[in-house]
Amino acid sequence: MAIEHASQRPIEKAFPQTNHPVLPPIPASLINHRVITVEEAEQLIAHSLESLPSETVSIEDARGRVLRETLRADRNAPPFNRSTFDGIALSYAAIEQGHSEFPITGTAFAGSPKLSLDAPNACVEIMTGAPLPDQADCVVKVEDLDIANGTARILEGTPLSRGHGVHPESSDCQSGQSLLKPGCRLTAKELSIAASIGKSELLVSSLPRISIVTTGDELVPVDAQPLSHQIRRSNDLALNTALASAGYTQTRRFHIVDDLKETETVVASILEQSDIIILAGGISKGKRDFLPEALESAGVSKSFQWVAQRPGKPLWFGDYTINDRKSFVFALPGNPVSCFTCLHRYVLPALDQISGLPTQATQYAKLKSDFQFKPPITLFLPVLIEHDTDGQTWAEPLPFNTSGDYISVARTQGFIELPQSESNFASGTAYKFRPWQS
Ligand code: AMP
Ligand code: MG
Repeated sequence: MAIEHASQRPIEKAFPQTNHPVLPPIPASLINHRVITVEEAEQLIAHSLESLPSETVSIEDARGRVLRETLRADRNAPPFNRSTFDGIALSYAAIEQGHSEFPITGTAFAGSPKLSLDAPNACVEIMTGAPLPDQADCVVKVEDLDIANGTARILEGTPLSRGHGVHPESSDCQSGQSLLKPGCRLTAKELSIAASIGKSELLVSSLPRISIVTTGDELVPVDAQPLSHQIRRSNDLALNTALASAGYTQTRRFHIVDDLKETETVVASILEQSDIIILAGGISKGKRDFLPEALESAGVSKSFQWVAQRPGKPLWFGDYTINDRKSFVFALPGNPVSCFTCLHRYVLPALDQISGLPTQATQYAKLKSDFQFKPPITLFLPVLIEHDTDGQTWAEPLPFNTSGDYISVARTQGFIELPQSESNFASGTAYKFRPWQS
């Protein structure tokens, strides 16, 4: 569903927490007229991108957002010596002196103020999570006790030591200690830390405003009955779903027919309201592939087109600046497999980068069977993944008909990247693996 955007926002230039490639830019003269490599495309994109601005949101709305501040402990954790069992709290010195029976002088509950031990050989009953009396340094579990007539007797053979059953004050962290750094995605565990230190509002990266634009006269909506020469539109839904599951939910969707004027009008109107524009189809060399022309006439500055990869060779990337604000345009080939693969290989990492996330660690999987691919281009090969009992990840290539064969690809878990420099890929060799977003 279309989501309306906030008005224009400035794009922040500096964002020091990311660790994206910082290789020197490739001169435009080198790339404008040739097919570039996957690595060059990746580098050109990474250099061009700029960080999104930040905003403050309620902790209730912060799920999935990227933190842009350091979160520090507001007090020690735990804030007091806390009992880890239900039992009795006592001074271990009394046990060292040979005592095994202790008069109970009070009951310490979680949430009640700290009690004190009335005498060196006394004890208090204590519940899990309650603060220990200052004089106590040992908790004996209720299972190891015989309690009768206000006295607790420790059962013979109970192994005890000083500190037994005690979660000491500040043993998890000290007040002021940094707990979370900028650049982390706020999931359940990070939000539990924020809640525990009383951060009801958090500084996070703005959500990128994303426009998804499909093109093509042959495409009809999902609920339409296609004529024999038409097909239902699926790329926009696939893109939108993968983006949402990666945390990028601020999307609008458009469809344009194969008409130069309409393409120019829609492109121009979308540019000013989007941080990222993802176009699908209409980008290759067909007679009605109007996007390259429309993008350039709308003032989008092309960074590159044509990448030595399969699928996805026609990939087009550029940027557009208005009022010192930059938006980025990824025009992906319309074939569903090309479109989906390019989203994962280029667009999702770009979104992570502008949101301030560090580069994700590369995953690898071993080829399960020998594979040959002669053309001197990078192959993104959809694979079935298996994890064996030795902890190894195996990738079984799944043959697919063409880059239009989205049905075979739906059975795979992701793709491996077979480098341009090789043509014989031996079983057992590890290659980069990227999982599909669910
Ligand atoms: P194009 O890149 O426009 O030449 O399209 C290549 C192929 O992808 C054509 O067969 C299109 O019908 C198909 N295609 C393009 N866009 C979509 C879409 N949104 N959903 C499904 N198929 C598409
Ligand atoms: Mg088309």
